[in-house]
Amino acid sequence: MRIEVEKLEETGGKFSQVYAPGELLFEEIELVEAAAITGRARRKNGDVELRGELLTKASTICGRCLKPVELQIDVKFAERFVPAVSWRHEEQHELQEEDLNISVFDGEGIELDDLVKEEILLAIPAHVLCSEDCKGLCPSCGVDRNSETCDCEAKQIDSRWDKLKNLGV
Ligand SMILES: [Zn+2]
Ligand SMILES: [Zn+2]
Repeated sequence: MRIEVEKLEETGGKFSQVYAPGELLFEEIELVEAAAITGRARRKNGDVELRGELLTKASTICGRCLKPVELQIDVKFAERFVPAVSWRHEEQHELQEEDLNISVFDGEGIELDDLVKEEILLAIPAHVLCSEDCKGLCPSCGVDRNSETCDCEAKQIDSRWDKLKNLGV
């Protein structure tokens, strides 16, 4: 969905859109529920401000044990779109409201899909864990230490050669 700047006055700037899972594709994550965005766009001089809320549920993997982890996403966003032409005159942007992120657009329309994808990625922490005390995978044999035990630590493998053997190199 594209928000046409020229039409903002007619619609009052309100927008809402629902994206089914699979409609938005990511490399790192997957949506397990529809993503619903609602908000309002306002023109400010040449810029356009988009504010609203985004709701969805995403699936990513635990950084320690690689199991899927579902994350509820409910974020409020505030983004200012600056036309690419005026962006070059940096001095126009010296005072920015701190709660706004800045993006550049072509001056005519804003791709809501891109904004939604960006906001979803921003909402996902860099290090996701299935639980705070996830034990992770054994670095030697690869078992999930949350559900299985191995005797690698007891064996005290400390020679490089043995480590390579266990990795199957
Ligand atoms: Zn985990
Ligand atoms: Zn092990």
